[in-house]
Amino acid sequence: MDDRFAFILPVMQVAFGIAAVLAGRWRVSSAGWWAGGFLASAAGFAMPALTFLMPEGGRAVLASGLFAAAFLCFGQAMGEHFGLRRSHISLRLGIAALSVMASAWGVMSDSLRLHLAASDAGCALLMAVPLLAARGRTRRSGDRALIVVSWVVVADAGLRAAAIRWLASGGLGEFATSPYAFVYQITGSLIGVAFAMAALASVMIGVLMRYRDWAICDPLTGLLNRRGFDEALAGRSAHEKSHAAVIACDIDHFKAVNDQFGHHRGDEVIALLANAIDAHLPARAFAARFGGEEFVIYLPQGALALAGGLAGTGAVGTAADLAETVRRDFAQRVQRLLGRDFAVTASFGISAMSPGEVMLDAALRRADQALYQAKSAGRNCCVVKPALAGQPALHLPRHGSSATLHA
Ligand code: GH3
Ligand code: MG
Ligand code: MG
Repeated sequence: MDDRFAFILPVMQVAFGIAAVLAGRWRVSSAGWWAGGFLASAAGFAMPALTFLMPEGGRAVLASGLFAAAFLCFGQAMGEHFGLRRSHISLRLGIAALSVMASAWGVMSDSLRLHLAASDAGCALLMAVPLLAARGRTRRSGDRALIVVSWVVVADAGLRAAAIRWLASGGLGEFATSPYAFVYQITGSLIGVAFAMAALASVMIGVLMRYRDWAICDPLTGLLNRRGFDEALAGRSAHEKSHAAVIACDIDHFKAVNDQFGHHRGDEVIALLANAIDAHLPARAFAARFGGEEFVIYLPQGALALAGGLAGTGAVGTAADLAETVRRDFAQRVQRLLGRDFAVTASFGISAMSPGEVMLDAALRRADQALYQAKSAGRNCCVVKPALAGQPALHLPRHGSSATLHA
């Protein structure tokens, strides 16, 4: 076996460690653990070559310790990445300690087989524990690739531990020249690269997904923003959209809320309306904050069927039911926050798609007009604008009973 070949693995692992350190700049919590794992593993692979450091036996034990540390770090990184509640740290530390002690015993008793088998079995178990804990937590294709490659790492380390019997029994000195060591380096290099690439890919996909979430979500309310609304809408079929209804809503006299309670409380009131909307959204419906204190709710055909409806009024009636529920819920939530003396309310405009319409724009415009009518009608109410011209608008409730700030 060519000795120079042995440098490839640690150099690659260092490169992946540096890449993980750089990925940590995007505030990915797992990146530091990946970096620690790759660097510890690089140091472990470099040990046989660092003859100036200490005698062979000491370096072998140190290498086992470094591999155990690397796999502890990989397990920690997976825990962070998959959001595992339990890291099984005591179990993993126990496995690491036993594996290093058994490996050291192999060195002291000059049994290369025990030394290598204990180290490999320890690494396989240290990776298997977080993998078993992460079952059912893979959401993205990048995660699935990481899981598959990690199981290959477990299988490789486990097989190496099991295949140790084919290594000629002997002392440490026989390892470097053995065919076993050659296969060990080849499989270690290939699987190590695949594992590092999958780990880094999962980190980078996590970063991209986070920025994507930031791009389409409103940070104050957690609902979609305008861009997110358009994107969610683009994912719905023309058939679904042609039977949809929309609700536009806006908090009444919100400037006065800001003036009276301050911008911070104003933000809390905006978040309350978002909570009230979110609490009553039927399945497959979605809502977005379009700006300031204005929200839009999209109700697809399926959601309308689930939510029931005003008898005889179809889709738009069901949407009006939802708007009424949100209107009352919001008023109650605000009362709990600001007390009974200050009522803050919201107005709602509702419309549905008319036959033949495929784009939501016209329905949105009608819902907006209905919202203005609700404001003109005294606020704290819902107005339904029929899709067909000539039909009268429907006002709910007929007599707004709750007082608004300016009532
Ligand atoms: P109306 O009943 O006619 O809707 O009256 P209004 O006072 O709510 O009028 P308008 O919608 O024009 O006022 C919106 C105000 O909301 C103006 C702006 O200062 C405030 N605002 C916009 N965005 C935010 C925000 O993110 N937080 C807070 N606290 N206030 C905001
Ligand atoms: Mg307003
Ligand atoms: Mg407004």
